[in-house]
Amino acid sequence: MIKSQPSTRIKELTLLSANDWELLDEVRELKNSGQKITELTIGEHDIRTDPRILDALNKSAISGNTGYAPVSGNKNLREAIAYRVTKRTGIPTTYKNVIITPGGQSALFAAHLGVCNPGDVALYCDPYYATYPGTIAGAGAKPKVIKARPEENFQLSGEAIDTASDGAKSLLINSPNNPTGVVYTRDTLEDISLACKKNNLWLISDEVYDTQVWEGTHISPRSIEGMSERTIVIGSMSKSHAMTGSRIGWAVAPEEFIDHLINFATHTTYGVPGFIQDAALHGLSLGKKFENEIATPFKRRRDLATQIFSKQNLLTLVPPTGAMYLLLDVRKTGLTGKQFSSLLLAKKHIAVMPGEIFGKSAIGYVRIAMTVNDAEFKNALNEIIDFTKQFL
Ligand code: PMP
Repeated sequence: MIKSQPSTRIKELTLLSANDWELLDEVRELKNSGQKITELTIGEHDIRTDPRILDALNKSAISGNTGYAPVSGNKNLREAIAYRVTKRTGIPTTYKNVIITPGGQSALFAAHLGVCNPGDVALYCDPYYATYPGTIAGAGAKPKVIKARPEENFQLSGEAIDTASDGAKSLLINSPNNPTGVVYTRDTLEDISLACKKNNLWLISDEVYDTQVWEGTHISPRSIEGMSERTIVIGSMSKSHAMTGSRIGWAVAPEEFIDHLINFATHTTYGVPGFIQDAALHGLSLGKKFENEIATPFKRRRDLATQIFSKQNLLTLVPPTGAMYLLLDVRKTGLTGKQFSSLLLAKKHIAVMPGEIFGKSAIGYVRIAMTVNDAEFKNALNEIIDFTKQFL
């Protein structure tokens, strides 16, 4: 009998991310065997969701808000996000420009499916957040990388986009960036915008770290002249409000495109639980002060890291200007990121992510998530430096 086969598309997606999370499996095994590990791996805060947000969630659920919610998202939450986006970009935005999604991740998938026909080229930037190629391939498009260069501080150039854009339909960017910790400058974003217009590309702008900016300011390309009609902004409560497990995010785009996404959601996710949306609305009502409170520990640890790594010459930090990560150049040790992270785990019981999973541009790097308390973080960084002494 012939064996039933999964689709080529899903097998491709699996292949694209096959070894990405290997190190996390290793960490889990070590922990199960009783080993204490300092985990500087995934982008998960060291605090839990704020009790005030959980209270709102609980009140909403207890009061009976447990049925199907509107597929597009609750109007009051869509309005709150539209207000936030208008305030930050100066571009008039209404609830009709917003769809609520189960996390930014599902919005990234829907956005690509919404702009690419099967087989269309979708551009993204290397180094990249590890799910990107699989997300694009899963949506039926062809992922194609554009390399951001360390010599240019990992800022993307319009010229590189021009060169890559033959047959391309979209470009995915991410600022503040995971894994580089780099925030795109206004010049970079103007240059990217020009290239998108010139090459008739949709711009998918992943802004899930927009509240984590340590130097300069976050600029959304939606605010750049002529870009709002070709830009899809991806947002999320995961990082800004420590709500990773609530799975709540959004896409902001031209109204007609949002209508398509709502229709797509009807056939896929069927929306986000109403009590989670009420919790998110309460989270947003806590304002900028609360968002700063969530972001501040990462800023503090970034300052600590800059100070600690400045005392040696073997490891070089990519100057971190945003997001909850540090990208560390380990090439002078003679190791790849993968070798470095495996040895570090074995010898010092500290887990960092090998640069390889974020693309070819990050092969001699490791990514450090600043996601443990300050004392443990400081200790881990000093231990990392101690570990590298053998390569001097
Ligand atoms: N984009 C980037 C760059 C991310 O780092 C993440 C999560 N780590 C996401 C999108 C997805 O976030 P979520 O689905 O939790 O909103």
